[in-house]
Formats: sequence, C-alpha cells, structure tokens
Amino acid sequence: MSSPFDPSLVYFVGAGPGDPELLTLKGHRLLSQADVVIYAGSLINPALLDYCKAGARCHDSARLDLGQIIDLMVTGVSAGQLVVRLQTGDLSLYGSIREQGEELAKLGIGFRAVAGVSSFLGAAAELGVEYTVPEISQSLVITRMSGRTPTPEKESLEAFAAHQTSMAIFLSVQEIGEVVARLRDGGYPADTQVAVVYKATWPDCQVVRGTLATIAGQVTSAGIRKTALILVGAFLGDEYHYSKLYDAGFSHEYRQA
Ligand code: SAH
Repeated sequence: MSSPFDPSLVYFVGAGPGDPELLTLKGHRLLSQADVVIYAGSLINPALLDYCKAGARCHDSARLDLGQIIDLMVTGVSAGQLVVRLQTGDLSLYGSIREQGEELAKLGIGFRAVAGVSSFLGAAAELGVEYTVPEISQSLVITRMSGRTPTPEKESLEAFAAHQTSMAIFLSVQEIGEVVARLRDGGYPADTQVAVVYKATWPDCQVVRGTLATIAGQVTSAGIRKTALILVGAFLGDEYHYSKLYDAGFSHEYRQA
C-alpha cells in the first residue's frame, strides 16, 4: 500500500498501555514506515520497536529535553523522513503534545495525532470491570494528585472525592498514603473499594485490591512506586444492577418488550 503519510508533518502516536497488540492499526502502519522514531523509554514497551523497519533510527526521549526532541524532529522532517513520536497510552492525557506542537509550529512544522488506548482503559480490561455501573456510578473522574506539576485548587482530590463516583488517579501511587488521606477527607468512607494496577496489560502486571483502610499498606508491601493507576469507587464492589438496555421487559428503539 502506498504511504498516505505526509513526511512534512510529525506524527504523534498513542502507543497504548503496554501490550504491543493494543497499538492501533494506523499506529502500527506509521511505526513500520517511520524513518525516525522518538519514544518515551520510561513507559513504552520496547517490543513496539520491533514493528519498525530495518534502518529506522529510534531515540529514547527519557534523557532528552524539549529542545533536543524538537531538533530530532526538525532534522528528520527537513530531510524528507517520516518522523513518529511515540507516547504511552493516549496522547490526550498527561501527554505533553501541546508544547511539542507549539515548538514545531514556531518552525512552520505541523503535526497529526493518532489516538491510543489509555492505561485507564487497559487497567479496566485487566480487572474485567466497568467504571460505569447502573445505579452505582455513571461518571468517571480522571485526575492526579498535585506534584511537581501543580493541580488547580478546585480540582483537589478532596473536591472530587465528595462526588463518590468512579475515579482513576494517575501519576500518584508514590504517595498512596497522602492520596488515601485526601480521599477520606473528601468524604469517601474507609470501606470504599480500591484497586491499584501496576503495568496494566504488561506481562509483569500486578493488581492489588483492598479498601481505603488497607490499600496504602498493601501497596507499600508490594513495592509499587510508579507506572500504576489508583482506581477508586463502588464500581469495584459487589453492588450491581442489570442494565435496562438488555432487559427483556424494556422496550427501546430497536426492540419491543
Ligand atoms: N498518556 C498516558 C498517561 C501518561 S502519564 C495514558 O493515556 O495512559 C503516566 C502515568 O500513566 C503513570 O504514572 C501511570 O499512572 C499511568 N500509566 C501509564 N501506563 C500504565 C500502565 N500500563 N499501567 C498502569 N498505569 C499506567
């Protein structure tokens, strides 16, 4: 198939949560045609680089600063090479494509983004759960605890916890004790279910399940300090109601009761 990809652009590709088969077909095609690949080595499964063609130049961005990353992109694009920037999960969450896009724009270079499977979706699949459970929770809060990147005050964990809806907390497992304290302060009861999923969809994935009363100790004992999501809420519990959608007694547009 001839390449529909335009080498005057940089392609940002969501790499998925870890399992190399959770890359999109478009992402795969881009990787297999790329001349230059810049990947976030701290989180990307290196097995994804097996999709690259022989001779592709792959750079781990873990040790590079923004200027160096942009230099690699500009050098590639100027030479007519296909440049792919591979980032973990999906690009739209804690992804930093905006600043890279801004710097490229200053140099007259555009970009395209290709969606990926975010780790919060990989984690739910790992557990076989739904964040939205009829009559229990119909919303999901995706957030993080403030760290070196500050979080706006109105988005504090306490404020979100007050809703007692499903939560997926990124980038915070290293401070699990503090996360628990804030969720409790916000109003989640101590027996609220919690799952910490380390390296969802990787072969060495680890799942720790408990409650707000127990999870901090369990996570510390398990030695989990990074690459994990903290999932919180009654969606992890036993209470459940069948949905109306497939209820034989419920009529809708496509089916009569
Ligand atoms: N854009 C990414 C998130 C990048 S921020 C996405 O959509 O998933 C990095 C954080 O994502 C990590 O600190 C961790 O909280 C989470 N993360 C990334 N990959 C993960 C995985 N395979 N399992 C669990 N958490 C993961």
